Amino acid sequence: MHYLDHAATTPVSSAVAQAVAQALTESFGNPSSQYPLGMAARNLVQESRETVAQALGVAPERLFFTSCGTEGDNWAIRAALHQNRHVGRHIITTAVEHSAVLEPCRSLAAQGYEVTYLKPDKTGHITAQQVLDALREDTALVSVMLVNNETGCIFPVEEIARSMKAAGSRALLHCDAVQGFLKVPCTPAAWGVDLMSISAHKIGGPKGIGALYIAPTLPHPQPLILGGGQEMGLRSGTEPTGQLAGFAAAVKLRFPRWQADAAYMAELKAYARQRLTAIDGLVTVGAGEAPHILSISLRGYPSGNVVTDLGSQGICISAGSACHRGKASHVVSALGLDKRTAAGVLRISFGPENTREDIDALYEALLAHRQQRFAML
Ligand code: PLP
Repeated sequence: MHYLDHAATTPVSSAVAQAVAQALTESFGNPSSQYPLGMAARNLVQESRETVAQALGVAPERLFFTSCGTEGDNWAIRAALHQNRHVGRHIITTAVEHSAVLEPCRSLAAQGYEVTYLKPDKTGHITAQQVLDALREDTALVSVMLVNNETGCIFPVEEIARSMKAAGSRALLHCDAVQGFLKVPCTPAAWGVDLMSISAHKIGGPKGIGALYIAPTLPHPQPLILGGGQEMGLRSGTEPTGQLAGFAAAVKLRFPRWQADAAYMAELKAYARQRLTAIDGLVTVGAGEAPHILSISLRGYPSGNVVTDLGSQGICISAGSACHRGKASHVVSALGLDKRTAAGVLRISFGPENTREDIDALYEALLAHRQQRFAML
């Protein structure tokens, strides 16, 4: 198999799976229990929090575990609007956020909030100036992702935070860093970001676990789930110790070498770009600079057909975001591509385990697809 869809999810290494298994079978106590087995589970939760917090450069007591990136995004938006309820009901986000941000915004718009969607340029980028131009007295929240999951564009989150402060804005800044964490620099506290969501399954951890950083600028964040008071009273529910152990194990593996991994993936991406664009009619889409995501289009060849054809040969790539499941991607639409290019957009996303052989196999399969099928458009 040639797995080239790491932006959808990542394989879990045996070391990470072992950490999960150990937590489930040995440290299986309830972290709230008073006897030693409970204390061991409590320590596991605390150590996991410290490990993930350290990789983000934040204080552990400001990091809250969630069930996924989607939950972190939803909670961040809700908490920010609650905190800033006296500021106003205006939200700024981008037209190319993940649906985990766009859907809550759509729902809020139906409840009377006003949402400004910033449009990217043809390369897929947005600027800090666009955020500044859209800021108003009543802007309560700005939500901008760190790395776009389809184009790989890095958004200037640090600059946005700085500009908002300089402009004296009272709006809180949320960043969906699900695709950026451990792939590009990502230090929310140093940048002055108020809320940041991440997800374990994009960095070699298990599915079903993520985290939300909440800065001290939200001293009493609105709880997400009420109940037994876990997660410092903000997200009740018995802690998923297996997933937490897996999350921490993945971070322990990836954090010390993330820059080396990023450099390696950037080199693979450059090789892929050079190799694949030699195919007649194949173009790159946007100008994403994240090391692990390359967006291309086999112009005129519907991407769904390409993905199915290659999938049957054991080559896993994606037609835009895996979350769209066949629907036209809002990110592709926002780029304003011509019809033939838009129809053929494919996302190749790398992990540290990939090699040039994976790219060579992809090249051969794309070439064969192009030769054997007729362009539909
Ligand atoms: N945000 C971005 C940018 C993503 O790419 C994804 C998943 O693809 C999510 C949020 C959702 O994360 P999760 O799958 O952990 O809910």
